[in-house]
Amino acid sequence: MARGREGGKQKQEAQTLLQAIRSKRVGIIGAGVSGLAAIRCCLEEGLEPTCFERSNDVGGLWKFSDPKEGRASIYQSVFTNSSKEMMCSPDFPYPDDYPNYMHHSKLQEYIKTFAQKKDLLRYIQFETLVSSIKKCTSFLVTGQWVVATEKDGKQESTIFDAVMICSGHHVYPNLPTDSFPGLDRFRGNYLHSRDYKNPEAFKGKRVLVIGLGNSGSDIAVELSRLATQVVIGTRSGSWVMSRVWDDGYPWDTVYVTRFASFLQNVLPSFVSDWLYVQKMNTWFKHENYGLMPLNGSLRKEPVFNDELPSRILCGIVSIKPSVKEFTETSAGFEDGTVFEAVDSVIFATGYDYSYPFLDETIIKSRNNEVTLFKGIFPPLMEKPTLAVIGLVQSRGAAIPTADLQARWAAKVFASSMFSSFFRFGQSQTLQTDYITYMDKLGSFIGAKPNIPWLFLTDPRLALEVYFGPCSPYQFRLMGPGKWDGARNAILTQYNRTVKPTRTRVVSEAQRPHPFYNLLKMLSFPLLLLAATLTLMRKSLRSQSSE
Ligand code: FAD
Repeated sequence: MARGREGGKQKQEAQTLLQAIRSKRVGIIGAGVSGLAAIRCCLEEGLEPTCFERSNDVGGLWKFSDPKEGRASIYQSVFTNSSKEMMCSPDFPYPDDYPNYMHHSKLQEYIKTFAQKKDLLRYIQFETLVSSIKKCTSFLVTGQWVVATEKDGKQESTIFDAVMICSGHHVYPNLPTDSFPGLDRFRGNYLHSRDYKNPEAFKGKRVLVIGLGNSGSDIAVELSRLATQVVIGTRSGSWVMSRVWDDGYPWDTVYVTRFASFLQNVLPSFVSDWLYVQKMNTWFKHENYGLMPLNGSLRKEPVFNDELPSRILCGIVSIKPSVKEFTETSAGFEDGTVFEAVDSVIFATGYDYSYPFLDETIIKSRNNEVTLFKGIFPPLMEKPTLAVIGLVQSRGAAIPTADLQARWAAKVFASSMFSSFFRFGQSQTLQTDYITYMDKLGSFIGAKPNIPWLFLTDPRLALEVYFGPCSPYQFRLMGPGKWDGARNAILTQYNRTVKPTRTRVVSEAQRPHPFYNLLKMLSFPLLLLAATLTLMRKSLRSQSSE
């Protein structure tokens, strides 16, 4: 009898031990770039990922398809506006000959290769919809979730120790039809940019595009080749930038640098705002094109479009303020002007965040805004076992951001050591400064580059890290998940940048000169300082002579 009791106890102990050593299971929703980063980082932390993807392929929005319920959908002509050296997975550079800005099909090719080479496909259950995610009844103790899925009409429930939501945020169109009086009377057709695929249907038409984001301006420019007239209605305007920046380098390799971020943080705001506006106006004066943002110094994400100013100069696209009212055939704007005989209206008015499979009070505040600690963890959860990956927006690219977010989240799941930290942590706005944000996440897991140490031990690399592009490799230079190829990838990033454009070799490749750029950047504040001092001296002199 005693031996029987002893045996039962041993069995129980063995089960507890097994439970403890069993790697934690993580459910991942979506196999876009965020979901792939999530699988990969779970594996690095010894977790056991299972990813559910409702479509039949990886890539999420980069897999071109017609709009389907619950899935992102892009137009045929989409090119990236982040350049290849700034938007790769941090240990998986693009092939040298890839163009700097990629057509969606090229990026999809990269994403598929990444998934294959990193052996991620076997963790994905395709054509499987996640219909609900609920806390387990034992959630307060275990932090576990019940994930319900549907495949071929069959429903299943699985318990996971943690969940990563990677379902994207370009899925549910924001179609603000109620905000436009008279739209119900309008006899032309209207659609959301999500349903726009190509310009053929608009040949010879007069089209109004509402919204001046990247999609709105891309669509307006594309339409302008076939349509008779295109008007963009914008509430607040936008800075419009070229993808091609100083000395012809891709904009983000010049602009997204640690040094630029340092200057922005240390300069008095009136100087840095002034510099920002000067820089944004170097290509053309936004006032003259009707594009000037209402709050010019606000670091709202600029629009990247190389053709919009020239289409405006050619008179085929024009910019108007918000639409005040529609009639049966026309649109009247807030400045009193009217666009007559409108055939079609395209609402490029963005997307709403929605998580139909989750009790949204978990991640949304009372004002229906998403509130997440560092843009990832619901701040008031009893256990930090739910993470949202890929939601934060910054001037940096999605792929490296998702990688670092998923690395941190996986580490938290593996250790659960920061639980009290979350309960009291401040939630983060979803718009954020890229480098500051990445460094913060990096510092949580020891992956933030230690710049002073690099200057002491590897000055050549340090110069490139500090003055050169803040490329994704920087976040796998040190700490857990360190990639041995990161140093070389950083030192050769410019070679890969110029490789696809130097198709006719005429001389040595020209590399950027960080010190020259430094002087160029400093010349603005120095000039400003000199002008201020001169003015002060003049006013002092005139006071003393009075
Ligand atoms: P998605 O790509 O949307 O993937 C989400 C996946 O989740 C999908 O495959 C979907 O099928 C799946 N899913 C959703 N719900 C469920 C469910 N209930 N069950 C199962 N599966 C589900 N970013 C950049 O960095 N650079 C750029 O140049 C750039 N250009 C862009 C251009 C356009 C036109 C748009 C719209 C976005 C652009 N972005 C760009 C931002 C883009 O959001 C990111 O690049 C990135 O693709 C987001 O990936 P994701 O995995 O988070 O989401």
